[in-house]
Amino acid sequence: MSFFREEFTARSAAVRVRFGAGIRKTVADEIDALDARRALILTTPQQAAMAEEFAALCGPRAVGRYTRAAMHTPVDVSEEATALARELQADVLIAVGGGSTTGLGKAIALRTDLPQIVVPTTYAGSEATGILGQTENGVKTTLTSAAVQPEVILYDAELVTSLPVAMTVTSALNAMAHAAEGLYARDRSPLSSLMAVEGLRAFRDSLPGVMAQPADVAGRGETLYGAWLCGTVLGQVGMALHHKLCHTLGGSFDLPHAECHAVILPHAIAFNAGAVPDLLAPVIELFGHGNAGLGLWHFAKAAGAPMALRDLGLAESDLDRAADLASANPYWNPRPVTREGIRALLQAAWAGRHPAI
Ligand code: NAD
Repeated sequence: MSFFREEFTARSAAVRVRFGAGIRKTVADEIDALDARRALILTTPQQAAMAEEFAALCGPRAVGRYTRAAMHTPVDVSEEATALARELQADVLIAVGGGSTTGLGKAIALRTDLPQIVVPTTYAGSEATGILGQTENGVKTTLTSAAVQPEVILYDAELVTSLPVAMTVTSALNAMAHAAEGLYARDRSPLSSLMAVEGLRAFRDSLPGVMAQPADVAGRGETLYGAWLCGTVLGQVGMALHHKLCHTLGGSFDLPHAECHAVILPHAIAFNAGAVPDLLAPVIELFGHGNAGLGLWHFAKAAGAPMALRDLGLAESDLDRAADLASANPYWNPRPVTREGIRALLQAAWAGRHPAI
């Protein structure tokens, strides 16, 4: 199929992307290339050992470590880390980890304008976007700004081999959701659509092998390639129903981020499939079953993904409020969003049923 459009606006961020098993070992060169001298290394507490490894790789350029990155980028954590960056006179941030650590780097960059080198260890894709979600007093808000777009990404498949299989699957589906929604974005370009299809293909072809052999660096490399493409799509075009629903469920019911994406994706895509059959045709080509949502549902099920919101801790009695919240503020979606439509979608997703088609 052709992705040509008679009119479009395409925008790409100026990001330097380096890819390869062991590429993290070039981090000192990347710091020098940015003309920086004082690196602050960021990780979660769970990945603190990674901060040690990076400190060794950076040598005298490493002036500090902050290992308290947390899910949903709490503002108090960002303020504390920013104060440390200022105190150390850091002139570059090295974020090593998943979306939570990348989010912390972005939050510090927003406050200091420091350049960021991101070394992703999940498939979430935040490293490829100028989007930052932050949480304060239990409320998550999202902003988009060139100030938070990372300057350098080092994709090193060796660092993803430690990602547990269950997280591998949910993180992959999180990434695939960016691509699937990117296919019908109003502001899509031929380039974003090409990346979306190739990103979905990369996950389709490499995820089963990675689950069977999590330490296979070549397979991990292809999943990371998919993550880069899908994350880049997220950074270039606007999202719709799927991301809105996940934001609501994560923010208001504290459901885990990647798992929530994994459960909702087939249902949100099935909801929209009839409105944009041509735009979602590549998903049917890739995943079969005659319907884009159903194809993704079977792919997720075969991968052992969580299939039901009830398994993530959502009570059935929460579904009415979730439907109210998700349909309260109007937003663009290829198929008009009604409260009844969302309520039915949520019921099927809660029970783990096939998406309605
Ligand atoms: P995460 O960063 O929260 O990581 C989850 C846990 O897994 C952490 O304890 C982490 O240390 C650990 N971990 C990460 N990589 C590992 C590895 N290779 N081996 C072993 N353990 C590893 O999870 P995530 O799903 O990557 O990120 C979720 C967050 O990212 C959410 O807050 C979400 O909103 C945000 N996000 C933002 C964007 C954006 O563009 N702004 C895009 C996607 C996700």
